[in-house]
Amino acid sequence: MFWLQCGACSGDSMSLLNLESPDLLELFSDLDLELLWHPSLSVARQAREHEELLESLASGERPLDILCVEGAVIRGPSGTGMYDTLRRRPKKDLVAALARRAGAVVAVGTCASYGGVCGGAEVEGTGLQFHRAESGGFLGAAFRARGGLPVVNLPGCPVHPEIVAASLSALVTGTPLELDEFQSPTFLYGMRVHQGCTRNEYHEYRVEERGFGERGCLFFYMGCQGPMARGACNRFLWNRRSSKTRVGVPCFACTRPDFPRAYPFFTTRAIEGLPLELPDGINRPHYLAYKTMAAAAAPERLKRRSSGV
Ligand code: SF4
Repeated sequence: MFWLQCGACSGDSMSLLNLESPDLLELFSDLDLELLWHPSLSVARQAREHEELLESLASGERPLDILCVEGAVIRGPSGTGMYDTLRRRPKKDLVAALARRAGAVVAVGTCASYGGVCGGAEVEGTGLQFHRAESGGFLGAAFRARGGLPVVNLPGCPVHPEIVAASLSALVTGTPLELDEFQSPTFLYGMRVHQGCTRNEYHEYRVEERGFGERGCLFFYMGCQGPMARGACNRFLWNRRSSKTRVGVPCFACTRPDFPRAYPFFTTRAIEGLPLELPDGINRPHYLAYKTMAAAAAPERLKRRSSGV
């Protein structure tokens, strides 16, 4: 496996280093996965050594089973890619050369998947096979890795380490990966962040927070995107114990192709008190009627924002 960092903050690498049970090195050992290069874990004694490795992989002389790309592919200025280089060579050219040889290509994080934070026009950044929600991206919609799969997208800002570990395990063991319309494994992204949130009961009765530090739901006023965001944050807990919504921070929908969106993260955009965005397939008038009745039926213990028994 070769890990290439492009237009990124290293957040996905830092997240991966937090993998526990197994930890990252145990994972590599359990899978018998040879790590050819990772910028945070590998050391080239000489620059020449790293260059030779890259050349042998790009030429096909040395086989490359899995290419992980972290960060957006930077094409600026003017399509040259010279804003992001490795030894004076645009990394976009390396991505193209290595992707052509790889058995599987994995986009680690939202920037690599869709452009994300680094997908702005200033640096001409884009995702590997998507630009925002549009199929194509840097490699083109028709791209298939040597093993037959398109780019496997693992969005998240950062992506949870267990999602990377589970995807690598599936690829190494040859377990078939079913991908959704955004090319993410359905067994990891086939649920919403809302599922498993400990504030669900408050959501049900429309007991809402208007400020931080309470225990209500964050949907109506505080900007929570949990019901609309694909993701397993409340299934694979962060540091094995928590998630943003569990500690009272709204979900920013960092797995969505349009992340980050150009409006405040901590405020719900609403029309007459009803959030502008509702979960897929919801009928607005029915939802409003249901929420009004649910709020009227809310138990006192929830209205007091307590879990009281
Ligand atoms: S805080 Fe967000 S994720 Fe949790 S129940 Fe409310 S809407 Fe759902």
